[in-house]
Amino acid sequence: MPVSVDEYAAAAALPWARYAMAFENRGTLMGASNPHPHGQFWATESVPNEPARERLAFDDYRAAHGRCLLCDYVQREAQQGERLVCGNDHFVALVPFWATWPFETLVVTRRHLATIEALDNIERDALADVLKRLTTRYDNLFETPFPYSMGVHQQPMRDTGHDWHLHLHFYPPLLRSATIRKFMVGFEMLGSPQRDFSPEDAAARLQAAGEIHYRTRAGVEARP
Ligand SMILES: [Zn+2]
Ligand SMILES: [Zn+2]
Repeated sequence: MPVSVDEYAAAAALPWARYAMAFENRGTLMGASNPHPHGQFWATESVPNEPARERLAFDDYRAAHGRCLLCDYVQREAQQGERLVCGNDHFVALVPFWATWPFETLVVTRRHLATIEALDNIERDALADVLKRLTTRYDNLFETPFPYSMGVHQQPMRDTGHDWHLHLHFYPPLLRSATIRKFMVGFEMLGSPQRDFSPEDAAARLQAAGEIHYRTRAGVEARP
């Protein structure tokens, strides 16, 4: 798992850095050249587009409702239950209703906090636990090492006056099998993304995929 609290702290201390992002591309489908888990950590002078858009949404929601957008969202998903994949006392993994990739998921802290540095030791173990369980479900889905881009969205540095709620995104490209992937092209590129099946169906399939890795089930030693 590439998330490094120490690397984040080092980046946060850089006077020019406004953002630090840990991410991982897994599998050749996502451009990864190494077969082993290989995370990257980028620090940037400005806030990248995706977190900048999310910060606007946090601000708008706070102005309208006086609360944190993701705190309210996690609570609502927990009540409804139909898009939940797995979780523990500190994190929940779910298929967000706005997901565009077939098995896209969001991993969110149950507690309101902004950076991985703010996780206590129990929560850090809980993050490792939920990631292990979620990625096992992914691998089990088509009995293949499931490719994805995964990244940690945390608060921009020195960003007082804005809400932020720590979360991770998984964007996996596979659609129907280990080899049939979704292409975000044509109307989806020029108009808007379309779903091939509902977020609720994706969540149900990930729930059914189970947390015993298929290589272990087959009696073969699981690779990390
Ligand atoms: Zn929150
Ligand atoms: Zn995000």
